[in-house]
Formats: sequence, structure tokens, C-alpha cells
Amino acid sequence: MSSDPVIVSACLLGLSTRYDGKDALNEEVCSLLKGRLIVPVCPEQLGGLPTPRPKAEITAGDGTDVLCGLSRAVDENGEDVTSKFMKGAAETLKAALLTGAQEAYLKDRSPSCGVSLICRRGERIKGMGVTAAMLMKEGIKVTGF
Ligand code: SF4
Repeated sequence: MSSDPVIVSACLLGLSTRYDGKDALNEEVCSLLKGRLIVPVCPEQLGGLPTPRPKAEITAGDGTDVLCGLSRAVDENGEDVTSKFMKGAAETLKAALLTGAQEAYLKDRSPSCGVSLICRRGERIKGMGVTAAMLMKEGIKVTGF
């Protein structure tokens, strides 16, 4: 079993970091992490957003487009939170570099952490969140749960 550090979406570990103030505890993730050095992160909190907070989504494309400046993250009140999402992604990358983590277990369907799916107008669509896209761009292996 590997003891290498791994970045993990804090909500998957049972921390109440979600936009609605709840967690997304995932027993499979906790079991896979036995013996690993866990680095819990919530990119949206690291970006300076409060908890609870208004739900946000990526307006077009996915997190890769946000990184390129081609799309934005906007909350349900119409506030542009792109800079907060970008900061949270950068801080998460910083945590990975500080700890030497080469892998990240992330909460799928989130506009920050989504690995294969994000949500738009209540629908699940293929795409990555902003943090997942940034970590992958930097060569970190991302797995969604
Ligand atoms: S930003 Fe990521 S870690 Fe934070 S609550 Fe959303 S899915 Fe969980």
C-alpha cells in the first residue's frame, strides 16, 4: 500500500465544506486512503468563498475553458466568482507542490473538483471543474468520485 501524499476533496472525507454546508462523505474513498498521507482541500474555501455559499456553475465549456479565460464561474445570484475559483485552484496546486502529491481524489460533478462531470442548469454534462483541470494540466493524476 502506498503512503504517498494524495490531495483529497475535503467534503469526500466528511468535512462540511459543500456550498449547502453539508459533506459528501464517501466510504469508498476513505477506505482507499488507508495508509496514505491525506491532504484535505476545499478549493472554493481556499479561494475565499464562505460556507454555506450560493451554488455556482461554469457558464460554458468546462474548467479548462475557465483556465484559458474563455469561460467563467458564476453563482446562482449572478455574481462572477471566477477569480475565487481560480485562486482556489492555484492554492490547491500549491498544496500539491508543498506535499509532493502526484495524485488527487476529487468530488465529481463539482464546478471546482469535477473530474469527468460538471453540472449546468440542473443537468450533468461531461467536463472538468476548474481545480481538476489545473491539477491535470500540471501533471497530477486526478480521479473523480
Ligand atoms: S469545492 Fe470541492 S472540496 Fe469544496 S465542497 Fe466543493 S466539491 Fe467539495
